[in-house]
Amino acid sequence: MKVCRTISEMVSFVSDVKINGSIVGFVPTMGALHDGHIDIVKRCVRENDITVVSLFVNPIQFNNNEDLLKYPRTESEDLSLLLNAGCSAVFIPSVEEMYPDEETMIYDLGGLGDVMEGACRPGHFNGVAVVCHKLFNIVDPDRAYFGEKDFQQLAIIRYMVKDLGLNIEIVPHPIVRNESGLAMSSRNARLGKLDLQAASFIYQVLLVGSKLANMGKVASEIEDCCKDMFNLNPYFDLDYFEIADSNTLKSTSTLDNARFFVAAYIGGVRLIDNKYVMDRLQMQ
Ligand code: AMP
Repeated sequence: MKVCRTISEMVSFVSDVKINGSIVGFVPTMGALHDGHIDIVKRCVRENDITVVSLFVNPIQFNNNEDLLKYPRTESEDLSLLLNAGCSAVFIPSVEEMYPDEETMIYDLGGLGDVMEGACRPGHFNGVAVVCHKLFNIVDPDRAYFGEKDFQQLAIIRYMVKDLGLNIEIVPHPIVRNESGLAMSSRNARLGKLDLQAASFIYQVLLVGSKLANMGKVASEIEDCCKDMFNLNPYFDLDYFEIADSNTLKSTSTLDNARFFVAAYIGGVRLIDNKYVMDRLQMQ
């Protein structure tokens, strides 16, 4: 497994492997890898000749400096997990390598970046768009993999790739959850034992929401009920709970193509999750 710390090393690795027609799959991450990331990496390895993973904590997507400073960094563990998963190359640039000058690029994200995470974290999605566009230019992948855990991010990257006419297939990957239903996240490592146990409540609420939808309740009733569940649970400080269309990400009262989106603080850590509303398979 090749470790590249500069753009020129990464570019020359990819141009070498592309000479013989290899298909390159790419998994961008901020490191502190967990089973959710590794599931995506293993899929990428299965579906492509070459798998490139980036480990880069992107400062310009953090609107809260404390969150940036507390973001877990576990490079040597990440490297051994990636080696075992069959990754071909890892890109670990420094901040100076990615941003030699102050970043000024502003992307039009077609309104997808103004709601939910975008409304709560001003500038976040512009930072995501900037770093993904740069990484796409450097790694030049045929396919790039993004988790549905960050569903709004996935929608924005799809929009950007289409808008800019980039020749990259964006591949969505389902949310990987632990045995209690909690969506895996690098931020979970910051939770104490009790908060970690309590955090699985997020998925329980999403399941209740789907159950209510299947019972014929309308969106406003479901939303009220789910918000009440969070507000009555002393562990949680709810940021938002929304029912939004899976394509436009706009609030909707039509449940056919809708998803639940939630962001909540627990023990000072902000967690996000989402779920397709009418998903009968997960209702057992
Ligand atoms: P991050 O390092 O948090 O930026 O995540 C890197 C990629 O892994 C993103 O596309 C995330 O959506 C994806 N990801 C993170 N956690 C999960 C999870 N539990 N299930 C599926 N994808 C995930």
